Amino acid sequence: MNSAHPHSDDQALTSIEFRMRQAGEWLKLPDGVIETLIAPRRVLEVSIPIRRDDGTRERFTGWRVQHNITRGPAKGGIRYHPSVSRDETVSLAAAMSLKTALMNLPLGGAKGGVAVDPKTLSPAELERVTRRYVSEIFAFLGPDKDVPAPDVGTNAQVMAWVMDQYSIGVGHAVPGVVTGKPLALGGSLGRDSATGRGVVEAAMLVCQANGTSLEGKRVVIQGFGNVGMWAARLAAGWGARIVGIADVGGVISDPRGIDIDALVLATRNGSTSVVDCGIGEVLARGAERSTEVFALPSDIAMPCALGGAIDKDEAMTITAKYVIEGANGPLTPAADDILNERGVIIVPDIYANAGGVTCSYLEQCQNYAHLQWDEDEVNASVVNTMRAAFKRLHGFATQNGLTYRSAASVLGVKALADAHQLRGLHP
Ligand code: GLU
Repeated sequence: MNSAHPHSDDQALTSIEFRMRQAGEWLKLPDGVIETLIAPRRVLEVSIPIRRDDGTRERFTGWRVQHNITRGPAKGGIRYHPSVSRDETVSLAAAMSLKTALMNLPLGGAKGGVAVDPKTLSPAELERVTRRYVSEIFAFLGPDKDVPAPDVGTNAQVMAWVMDQYSIGVGHAVPGVVTGKPLALGGSLGRDSATGRGVVEAAMLVCQANGTSLEGKRVVIQGFGNVGMWAARLAAGWGARIVGIADVGGVISDPRGIDIDALVLATRNGSTSVVDCGIGEVLARGAERSTEVFALPSDIAMPCALGGAIDKDEAMTITAKYVIEGANGPLTPAADDILNERGVIIVPDIYANAGGVTCSYLEQCQNYAHLQWDEDEVNASVVNTMRAAFKRLHGFATQNGLTYRSAASVLGVKALADAHQLRGLHP
């Protein structure tokens, strides 16, 4: 595939549009179809005024984007972060459309977010932002229309407020309007660990496909939030050695393997960063140095923090042979090119982090059926779905001489185009 990347101010959006267009060309889609699939179906921008605890008034901006709703209800997380913007939300929603299509889940793609730093809000302010945001996008939402979930900066408590605010609006409890909820409100066992579980399964499968295994592999992880933390725990459980971990506070390392259980305990007991836990050696301090973790000698790198974390310079320093994208869009297009040239095998986000939305789908199934499945059943189902999708992805990439990223885009776009074609064009 042609690898010349166009340039624009919003790299994430340009990059996913470019990838979809490339996939459309590869598939030789009839004229105009790919442009229809690229364009977000609906983009809603809302104003969120709230009262601060000190009585002053503040205003934030939020978005909800339903990128594709051809194959099923729109599905995707809500992000609270200062960098959230219209274009970032559109790009992440498009990634969700490809992700659900690639994973063969009967869902569309969506994303939402508020441009706010949740760390600067008290719990009561966070609740007010959430309730007002949900009120503003209320008409978009519903179990058959659009189902949010957690993403960067949001969690199960935020999802509980989303469920409550929506339920108040319709006059009865609607657990299925949101996933990633607390268990007591119809959440699913296994949802917490699902994205990290999928990342580790992706790592195991790509190792297997290359005649090796995860056991004894040196792993470096950027991000120790929900995804990175679970990826570390589960990879260590399979015998991998976690030699480096980074978060916004900096980088820690231990060539013999970081004690993940101790690290989890320390962060649960109040340490705000991995560098403050007294575990491993502190190699660097500060968010801007967190990518130094990739320069540690390793076999597998798992970027599980924010998009665009790895650019050209960082790509040159990566020592790993495999990069498993736990975050959405962690590599810039330039970094992706460099790593491909260097022969590094990249397992792309729309597959590697799809364990989360896969489990969300299982949560929706449980909500529809008013059932609660046990944790082993849910975990096994997430793993089986990851395995089936890897079989398709690996087979397609190998048969057609494509990278996993290109193959994933082609398979995702093909599923969207087929559904679009079958439904036809109205009017
Ligand atoms: N925010 C997650 C993602 O980017 C989960 C989305 C969902 O479960 O709907 O895949």
